[in-house]
Amino acid sequence: MIIVMASSKKEDVDHVVQRVEELGYKAHVIVGVERTVVAAVGDERGKERLISLEALPHVEKVFPILKPYKLAGREVKKEPSVINCGGVSVGAGHFCVMAGPCSVESADQIMDTAHAVKEAGAHMLRGGAFKPRTSPYSFQGMELEGLKLLWAAGQACKMPVVTEATTPEQVALVAEFADMIQIGARNMQNYGLLRAAGKAKKPVLLKRGMMSTINEFLMSAEYIMSEGNPDVVLCERGIRTFETETRNTLDIQAVPVIKQYSHLPIIVDPSHAAGRWELVIPMACAAVAAGADGLIVEVHPEPGRAMSDGQQSLKPARFEEMMNAIRPLAEVMGKTL
Ligand code: PEP
Ligand code: MN
Repeated sequence: MIIVMASSKKEDVDHVVQRVEELGYKAHVIVGVERTVVAAVGDERGKERLISLEALPHVEKVFPILKPYKLAGREVKKEPSVINCGGVSVGAGHFCVMAGPCSVESADQIMDTAHAVKEAGAHMLRGGAFKPRTSPYSFQGMELEGLKLLWAAGQACKMPVVTEATTPEQVALVAEFADMIQIGARNMQNYGLLRAAGKAKKPVLLKRGMMSTINEFLMSAEYIMSEGNPDVVLCERGIRTFETETRNTLDIQAVPVIKQYSHLPIIVDPSHAAGRWELVIPMACAAVAAGADGLIVEVHPEPGRAMSDGQQSLKPARFEEMMNAIRPLAEVMGKTL
């Protein structure tokens, strides 16, 4: 249920929160530009009891949230959310480019890439330390050592870093070294991991599962938010279709559809969508034109020697070309890059 406050005074809001909790619901306070609302979420049965709160003088009205995703939807918050990732804003006009290698491979590799992408205008550094690989025999990432190298490269280039956690147990460690916790496509419905990320005090980059619908994607965001972490950035990274010429099919329509349903920012990963480096620049341009709030792109100094995803990684010079291609488009779309 949505409880629209007639007053935004702290004591009035606290009072409503207390009453909601007494009725056995979790209260999430959402402060918007025009109004403050308290979203009461929990058991759908018996939620009518919350309507009695309408009698309070500092409550304007109480009404049900119709969509299954309560906190991620536009019903509780009309204006787009801006997520702060280690000082970099994502959403509502702030276009954010995250770039770096698929995997952290060595101190030099991550440091060289960090300098190159920063120089070209990237806002955040990416790099996997815990890799969710399809084969158990493939490179699994440098783990703790990789986290440390990524963190050091981010510090050296003054860029916040984003990296993946693949199990609930890894979340605390990743949160210690990273400014943003990535949840990969293969883990989009790993509910234990989503809940753990929801308890972390860092923003989360949630990638769409390759076989997930938009509704399921938003429900996964809801898992994170329902644990008390409102800072979720969504990422469309391509879905599986019958097409075999590309690694995945970039569902570009998901961007405007999600914008309609959710206030959360959504970025696009053209690298994993395409699986081929030569498609990355055109798909990055398409993402900007579709209204995305940012991009996450794989860049490697020597893609031919990459331990993972070399075939879809841009060389630094190509990444610079991509930045030059998207800059005027972002401006047309009313975004600052
Ligand atoms: C990645 O970002 O390197 C990755 C594994 O992506 P996805 O989870 O989208 O496959
Ligand atoms: Mn990758």
